[in-house]
Amino acid sequence: MSNNEYSIQTSLLHNQHKFDPNTGAVSVPIQHASTFHQSSFDQYGEYDYSRSGNPTRHALEQAIAELEGGTRGFAFSSGMAAISTAFLLLSKGDHVVITEDVYGGTYRMVTDVLTRFGITYTFVDMTDLHQVATNIQQNTKLIYMETPSNPLLKITDIQGIVKLAKANNCLTFVDNTFLTPALQRPLDLGVDVVLHSATKFLAGHSDVLAGLAVVKDEELGNQLYKLQNSFGAVLGVQDAWLVLRGMKTLYVRLKQSQETAIEIADKLKNHPAIEAVYYPGLHSHPGYETQNNQASGPGAVLSFRLKDEQAARTFVESVKIPVFAVSLGAVESILSYPAKMSHAAMPREERYKRGITDGLLRLSVGLESAEDLIADFEQALEKISSASITI
Ligand SMILES: *Cc1c(COP(=O)(O)O)cnc(C)c1O
Repeated sequence: MSNNEYSIQTSLLHNQHKFDPNTGAVSVPIQHASTFHQSSFDQYGEYDYSRSGNPTRHALEQAIAELEGGTRGFAFSSGMAAISTAFLLLSKGDHVVITEDVYGGTYRMVTDVLTRFGITYTFVDMTDLHQVATNIQQNTKLIYMETPSNPLLKITDIQGIVKLAKANNCLTFVDNTFLTPALQRPLDLGVDVVLHSATKFLAGHSDVLAGLAVVKDEELGNQLYKLQNSFGAVLGVQDAWLVLRGMKTLYVRLKQSQETAIEIADKLKNHPAIEAVYYPGLHSHPGYETQNNQASGPGAVLSFRLKDEQAARTFVESVKIPVFAVSLGAVESILSYPAKMSHAAMPREERYKRGITDGLLRLSVGLESAEDLIADFEQALEKISSASITI
């Protein structure tokens, strides 16, 4: 790639598509055409039909490939479309070893859909390399990672898993949604396929659904291209443009949000109403060292545990700044309640086994001032403390 010598913040702006070679326009043109005129009877141009290739989508695909240090990128209509299409690399009879705190949509795809096509799975605690090793079977073809994981921000040793996978002839996938190539580049660590919900930090403004996949290996790139074109869940051009636009500010957004997340985690961990803070930027986090070795920062998502559902309810009803919603990685702070949102479908007992208690809240830190957010949280925590005194 042409801009490898640049740091990430420069590469985000000065890529192959910094201006349109035809007009000089300093923004990628949105090419709405579904089909392309061929000026020769038997020599066709680069583009023929937009499912197979479109210049606007292609610009995004090249941009993400470059940022992740890959050779090919693929853009899909959602993160789940990217993940589900990548799973189509598997065949009947194959087995997947997958992290137990995987994203809910991925959980559903693996347990409810792939099983109907004869693909089996084993959930493991991916932070425990020994447990991963003992669950690899003769027919295991894929080890699927998500790090940091959701919602407890557990850290997987990517290189440790890659070593195991290579020794057993398995592919490795990493869902890199939480950190993005600004903080973590799994292909550099030997991973085969990097996946993204670009809906989150990459696009960054809670205004578009998109998914991306990136590979380094040429043959794997050809296979994934065939699957993208066959399955057809490609990203539309308006949405591709929105992701490209959002990505230009990825570095500054993430840097600012991460700085605030570190401050908030530090404040929350000392508050008497808070039983635990889960954030890989805290020295007390069990994955702190691993995170430092494989990523350039802890990111901007953290979770914390209050006493019970009532405390979580009081907190959510008392804070004024964050939106209360699913999703993450946006300019505005987003507070989520995993027990009733991302993990609502999981039986309570199963949830508790995984540490997703009724008092757990997840916070995706946005671009508001740290001071305002902390003051807002402190007044909300105050309400919990006074509520428990009156009882
Ligand atoms: C949101 C999310 C997804 C799914 O992406 P969509 O764009 O919603 O389809 C996958 N993985 C992670 C970690 C996510 O946060």
